Amino acid sequence: MKDPVIFTTKAFGAQTKSSPLAATTIERRTPTPHDVQIEILYCGVCHSDLHTVRDEWGGTVYPCVPGHEIVGRVTKVGSDVTKFKPGDIAAVGCMVDSCRSCPSCREGLEQFCEAGMIQTYNSPDKYSGGVTYGGYSENIVVSEDFVLRVPENLELAAVAPLLCAGITTYSPLRHWKVGKGQKVGIVGLGGLGHMGVKFASAFGAHVVLFTTSPGKTKDALRLGAHEVVISKNPDEMKKHLNSFDFILDAVSADHDINAYLELLKRDGTLTLIGAPQKPLGASAFNLIFKRRQFAGSLIGGIAETQEMLDFCGQHGITSDIEMIKIDQINEAYERMLKSDVKYRFVIDMASLKK
Ligand code: NAP
Ligand code: ZN
Ligand code: ZN
Repeated sequence: MKDPVIFTTKAFGAQTKSSPLAATTIERRTPTPHDVQIEILYCGVCHSDLHTVRDEWGGTVYPCVPGHEIVGRVTKVGSDVTKFKPGDIAAVGCMVDSCRSCPSCREGLEQFCEAGMIQTYNSPDKYSGGVTYGGYSENIVVSEDFVLRVPENLELAAVAPLLCAGITTYSPLRHWKVGKGQKVGIVGLGGLGHMGVKFASAFGAHVVLFTTSPGKTKDALRLGAHEVVISKNPDEMKKHLNSFDFILDAVSADHDINAYLELLKRDGTLTLIGAPQKPLGASAFNLIFKRRQFAGSLIGGIAETQEMLDFCGQHGITSDIEMIKIDQINEAYERMLKSDVKYRFVIDMASLKK
């Protein structure tokens, strides 16, 4: 393979785990025959960006340029690209490549690639020899197989969060066949949680939202929840003992998982999508006595991400967003830590050019 030519692009990133994000430059490759170059218009802000920038999960390589909820306009395509042409609107989520040949990749579950998926940021980059850099930047270059089409009827800035928060909630709700006649809990009304409420309610389930923020009750009902429970109130929690078919836990910090396991009925499932730093201590008795299942789920494959976007186009579903400029990102992280996001920050990337 001929080495691609490198170009410089503006970005916003962190130089160490304790430094704030600031303007920087990174290098991108010009498109190889199967690549699409995208000018980034909007990038959503995921709590995983914060976990990674601050090295809360370990393994962050600096400089770190996060961002994996990307919507933009195609500016260049490689000679063999068939799905996109310059001028098209396109999107990129949490992955930019995988081995494409292992059993998981062949099943369209690239997120579980046995050789390790290549994430949009902080993954080994086979072209540069360094790590991948994400969407807090002017441009990104991605293999067309990992680029998504965006339904034309949706507002672009509000589509960006679908690329992570959307697919991460859509995929488990589909996998565990959530639908009519089921009582479903969503824990935490943040970026992921609010999309979980929208999808579970679109799939026809009876949706109960658990929150630590009483001020979010009205919004939760507007977003599609049928009931809201303030999880800090044990009496309110007790009313729901042994009653849920399925619970999706989207909490970013340490919390008492047993308070939710005991709300599942026999054979019910609690699926974690939140990724707190510390292990959660599930009580054996909460699982064995009612044959309950405690599971996890990771984003979704490329085909399912496209299916989710098309579903959103058909049903007019997008994220509820608060638009920010790139120089407000550090403040946005602090607000995210205080659960003060309604319900996803999206960066207007035009603010990076100034
Ligand atoms: P977010 O917008 O910050 O939302 C997290 C929500 O959790 C908060 O809004 C809050 O909701 C609740 N919460 C926060 N601290 C809490 C605490 N100490 N106790 C109880 N509840 C608390 O974050 P996000 O972007 O949705 O991400 C959520 C988690 O999912 C993160 O850990 C992220 O890394 C992870 N994630 C996983 C995947 C995956 O593939 N599995 C993909 C993306 C993100 P209330 O105010 O309603 O209580
Ligand atoms: Zn994410
Ligand atoms: Zn693979």
